Amino acid sequence: MPYRVAIIGAGFGGIGMAIALKRAGIDDFVVLERAGQIGGTWRDNSYPGLSCDVPSLLYSFSYRPWRWSRRFPPRAEILAYLRAVADEHGLGPHLRLGTGVEAARFDESRGLWNLTLTGPHTDGPSPASDTTLQAQAVVCAVGQLGRPSWPDIPGRDSFTGPAWHSARWNHDVDLTGRRVAVVGTGASAIQFVPEIAKAAGRVDVYQRTAPYVLPKADRPYREAELAVFDRLPAVRKADRLRIFLYGELLTSGFVLSPKLLAGPMHIWRRHLRTQIADPELRARCVPDYVMGCKRVVFSNDWYPALTRPNVELVTDPIERIGPDAVVTAGGTAHPADVIVYGTGFGAVEFLTPMEVTGVDGWRLRDAWRDGAQAYLGISVSGFPNFFMLYGPNTNLGGNSIIYMLEGQIGYVRAALQALDAERLAWVDVRPEVQDEFNSWVQSASRTSVWETGCHNWYTTASGRNVNNWPDHTFLYRRRVRRFDLAAYRARPR
Ligand SMILES: Cc1cc2nc3c(=O)[nH]c(=O)nc-3n(C[C@H](O)[C@H](O)[C@H](O)COP(=O)(O)OP(=O)(O)OC[C@H]3O[C@@H](n4cnc5c(N)ncnc54)[C@H](O)[C@@H]3O)c2cc1C
Repeated sequence: MPYRVAIIGAGFGGIGMAIALKRAGIDDFVVLERAGQIGGTWRDNSYPGLSCDVPSLLYSFSYRPWRWSRRFPPRAEILAYLRAVADEHGLGPHLRLGTGVEAARFDESRGLWNLTLTGPHTDGPSPASDTTLQAQAVVCAVGQLGRPSWPDIPGRDSFTGPAWHSARWNHDVDLTGRRVAVVGTGASAIQFVPEIAKAAGRVDVYQRTAPYVLPKADRPYREAELAVFDRLPAVRKADRLRIFLYGELLTSGFVLSPKLLAGPMHIWRRHLRTQIADPELRARCVPDYVMGCKRVVFSNDWYPALTRPNVELVTDPIERIGPDAVVTAGGTAHPADVIVYGTGFGAVEFLTPMEVTGVDGWRLRDAWRDGAQAYLGISVSGFPNFFMLYGPNTNLGGNSIIYMLEGQIGYVRAALQALDAERLAWVDVRPEVQDEFNSWVQSASRTSVWETGCHNWYTTASGRNVNNWPDHTFLYRRRVRRFDLAAYRARPR
């Protein structure tokens, strides 16, 4: 029997969607997760020092507050939260862990999606019937940041020591006393470098462009504060709103005009000045692009880490990697025992490598030849009843992804309910609606900091913003607050 809904991915998106279905009384669904556990980003990334950049009072489901130990809790706490919430809602029987989706193909005659599954299945060898599955609707919640990106450096494979990407941390290697080369200074590196520098003999940090680093207003919560949050939920909600508004303020600068970033620029300059005394090192920490064009990061210990005697910030470009060294321009060899790549993710390659085929054999990768796009980041014309969470143009530079996910989840739940209420086999977004939306996305992006000429992970090689939402986030929530059936072609049952 086909499922009513198949959810692909069990990160915050997939789990949030499953909870929404349960709460709406829809029980006929399955969550397919390729890994052996739920958790997405917070399961895969386990590097030392990983925590959220958004205070967890906001980086959590609005309907499920939590007793966080601190404002920006470590990864383990976020993962434990997601698991607890999934348990509370009895998602266990719906989860098929160790089950990846390789392909999804729409069968127009039956109005069903056929999913091709891959192992390893946790319950031992899977019977043949287990390798495919049918569902009336698919909610694809595979995230944007699940594909580690490796730099194309000559000789990378010739390195004989341990080497790994920050998103797949190798906990078997003890870095104590070792010479560690860190390639990249993005959001992950600025979190793990200060941690590994405490034990490593030496850390060479290879920087192509300097990040803007703002102070992180982090501290443990006092028991009295937590007690107030418990007893007076309005206080916790007010704090959540305060955090949200701060994020929207940053967003104003990112999407309207960099002039509005004068305040954050001032805070950054002061942060850099007070944390790095050496003018030469300080000069190398000054970004050469508009604030926000690359992800702004938050840390109180990144700049101090760079001043440690065992840490060197290397700004000469890497020429190649040898068996036991990183070689920079001019042939200078920097000996290394271990290399850690903090080089981010293949974010513009949405859904890769899944093969999605819609009406008339139309493939998603053909539809996205010039870059990914979707109506509201959720629906693509020609792919009926196929909904995405955290899809194209729904990433943020300054606010919580959970806030965006909750909007998308509500919209998709309403779409699924509309299928029943209107007795529809499927809905497919009208091409002209998608085109109009995407034209607006692209024109709105032109005034954003992301299109000011730096090299970032939000834009395609041709300079098109495919990742970020180019407006305030509350305006996104307004757009998805109800399912607009008129924007879709609908096939009666
Ligand atoms: C290091 C790091 C730090 C971050 N910090 C922040 C932050 O501070 N604030 C913020 O708002 N956001 C942050 N993010 C973004 C973060 O990804 C989102 O906030 C959120 O976790 C996305 O949830 P998701 O469920 O959409 O995707 P994910 O968490 O990526 O989950 C997707 C799931 O889908 C599964 N999957 C993928 N493909 C398949 C397939 N073919 N078949 C079956 N299963 C599949 C994956 O295994 C994974 O479990 C961060 C991301 C990273 C990498």
